[in-house]
Amino acid sequence: MSEYTITYIKNEQPKEKPQSDQLSFGKYFTDHMFIQDYNPEKGWHNPRIVPYQPLVLDPAAIVFHYGQTVFEGLKAYRTKRDKIQLFRPDKNMERLNRSNDRMCIPEIDEEFAIDAIKHLVHIDQEWVPNAPGTSLYIRPFVISTEPYLGVSPSATYQFIVILSPVGAYYEEGINPVKIAVENQFVRAVKGGTGEAKTAGNYASSLKAQEQVADEGYAQVLWLDGVEKKYIEEVGSMNVFFKINGEIVTPALNGSILEGVTRNSVIELLKHWDITVNERKITMDELYDHYQKGELEEAFGSGTAAVISPVGELAWEGKKMHINNGETGEIAKKLYDTLTGIQYGEEKDPFNWIV
Ligand code: PMP
Repeated sequence: MSEYTITYIKNEQPKEKPQSDQLSFGKYFTDHMFIQDYNPEKGWHNPRIVPYQPLVLDPAAIVFHYGQTVFEGLKAYRTKRDKIQLFRPDKNMERLNRSNDRMCIPEIDEEFAIDAIKHLVHIDQEWVPNAPGTSLYIRPFVISTEPYLGVSPSATYQFIVILSPVGAYYEEGINPVKIAVENQFVRAVKGGTGEAKTAGNYASSLKAQEQVADEGYAQVLWLDGVEKKYIEEVGSMNVFFKINGEIVTPALNGSILEGVTRNSVIELLKHWDITVNERKITMDELYDHYQKGELEEAFGSGTAAVISPVGELAWEGKKMHINNGETGEIAKKLYDTLTGIQYGEEKDPFNWIV
């Protein structure tokens, strides 16, 4: 048997599937999961699809103590013609390997991982929901499994993929959110792990998120970790502004996660002949544009919401009301085009669909 043969153990006790309109996010899991092991002798080996089940790990496993772990997030969409399709899975697997590299985790075979995902989604295809805006969220991740309390890279790992049917992000159409600029906590610093999709970045974001949620904000806008001047990301999304007819987004700088949606937004805007400036931008500059009436739109981009318009931005006691708290033209067009491609209702000029 080749190291690339995926063995399959069928789940003989499939679960009842939730109603398509009661999904929310990340609450339900399908009947199967993919697992592959790594050790220094065999490399990545024993790929298998097995019934969804708890993991058995030694309590000393490195992942529990030092967080040597990475993950990804992408979706499978059901089209009106009942085809199931993925959006740019190659980009997610490339990023997984960049995260692996940063976290000293051995690289995975990207093409094989995409095959494994296709295989798993095929087996659990009945779990891909069909209500408008719903999808099957795919969560590939790698954990370090060696039982060892020394701080060093693990010798052994597991690469796992689980699937979760998720609801429509916007129940009543794309809707602007209120965001608070975070002045106390930072998400990441240059030289740190911000550009890797690794657990610690998310653990360290919880406190800020919890504080602003109490004040009625949906997310925080993260500033750079050194001077707290430069805009980086919004919640777990990349951020874009429309200023004087042009689009500005923070340039990738080592502490920003390179979003697949960000990349797709930039390609689409260029395709539409809209100028996109990837550059540094400070809150001072943004506020200045706002006061001059030049800040026309603000929105986040990410796999979960696709495009999330910002209607209000709170910063140092000031409130910026952007586009009268309504969804901007560019945000709407990007949202419609991207979701159109994802659900097979729009042409896919870039061959993003698999
Ligand atoms: N920034 C962070 C910190 C994220 O967690 C995500 C979600 N993966 C994004 C940006 C957006 O990335 P993507 O468009 O690939 O979902």
